[in-house]
Formats: sequence, structure tokens, C-alpha cells
Amino acid sequence: MTVPPPPPPSRPRIPGSGLAKGLAVTLRTMTRKSVTAQYPDVQPELPPRSRGVIALFEENCTVCMLCARECPDWCIYIDSHKETVPAAAPGGRERSRNVLDRFAIDFSLCMYCGICIEVCPFDALFWSPEFEYAETDILELTHERDKLREWMWTVPEPPALDPGAEEPKEIAAARKTAEKLEAQRAQEAQQNQEAQQAQQKAEGEE
Ligand code: SF4
Ligand code: SF4
Repeated sequence: MTVPPPPPPSRPRIPGSGLAKGLAVTLRTMTRKSVTAQYPDVQPELPPRSRGVIALFEENCTVCMLCARECPDWCIYIDSHKETVPAAAPGGRERSRNVLDRFAIDFSLCMYCGICIEVCPFDALFWSPEFEYAETDILELTHERDKLREWMWTVPEPPALDPGAEEPKEIAAARKTAEKLEAQRAQEAQQNQEAQQAQQKAEGEE
């Protein structure tokens, strides 16, 4: 059996050195910027793309069920029914469409992966930085469509496009339609003016 070596002799303590060390730490931290957040008196400044909660823009939802199928936690609950839409023109065929009855997300299961938002083909789901929805009862963390729709108001605007980026096709289509309508109105105004002038001329000749 080997005998452990004796501990090294301790250095003599200088009286008051501990106090000086403590004061040095206090002075150092006093001059640093505070990192304590005074929440809830002061709201935190969150990055604009924070993953706080998932908002639903239900007007865009076609009940395709893709989000519910892809959710790894199976925490999106969707109910719907089919409705028959009459033909738009005489002789046309009736169509059927899905009508959303229920859209709920259980945030006690959600792991905020964002897959549902990524896979939605109709831009119906968005991240909102809203985070103040804690509950004391876990069952109340299942939020229904009205609440999810309300959170749409807290979704930040998308970032501006790069100056050299191609114009999105939806905006290009809307711009072309607006230009066409404007040209139509200008043409009608011109025709009205010409008709009025012709009428005034005819009245003058009589
Ligand atoms: S963020 Fe992920 S876990 Fe949460 S609802 Fe969407 S897909 Fe499901
Ligand atoms: S993927 Fe989008 S459109 Fe389809 S059910 Fe989900 S939210 Fe609605």
C-alpha cells in the first residue's frame, strides 16, 4: 500500500484579502451593462422572427391537412365538412369544397419545429413573436382557431425584398390588373368626353 504525499503547505492568508477580492468583483460588475430583464414591467425586445406562437390565417386554409399530417407531434387538430358550390355559369358543373370546422394546436405538445408553417402550401400558418400565453392548466394550452386567427395581428411584416429581386408573381399579376383597369377607365373617360363634345357641337349647329 502506497502512502499519499503530504498536502502542500498552505500560503499564509493576508488579513482582509477576501474582502478586497469581493469589493473588486463588486466594482467590476457595477460598471457592466445590466442584463437583467425587468419583465413584465418592461417588455423584452425580441428579434422580429421569434418563434413565439403559431398564428392561423384561416381565410387561406383549404383544409388540405398537410400540416396535420407532417406535424411530428400530432398536435394539430382539424375538422371539416364538404359543401357543394353551385355552378358559376349555366350548364357548368357543381363543385365541392372543404369548409373548416375546427383548427386547433396543442401547445403543450408542440415543439416549435415550424414544419407545419414550412409545408403549408397556401400561406395559412405564420410565426408570431407573441409569447404571453402561459396557463396554469396544461389542458388550456390547446388553442382554437379564433385565438390562432387573433394572433395573426401580431405577425410582423415580411422583410423587404432585395432591390434586385424578381417581382413576386402575385404582385406582378395584381399590378397588371390595376394597370389594365386604369387604362380602361382612362379610355372610357376619353370616349365620354368626345361624345359630350360631339353633342355640344351638334347642339350649336342647330
Ligand atoms: S411547430 Fe412542429 S410540433 Fe408544433 S404544430 Fe407545427 S409541426 Fe407540429
Ligand atoms: S397545410 Fe395550410 S392549408 Fe393545409 S390544412 Fe394546414 S393550414 Fe390549412
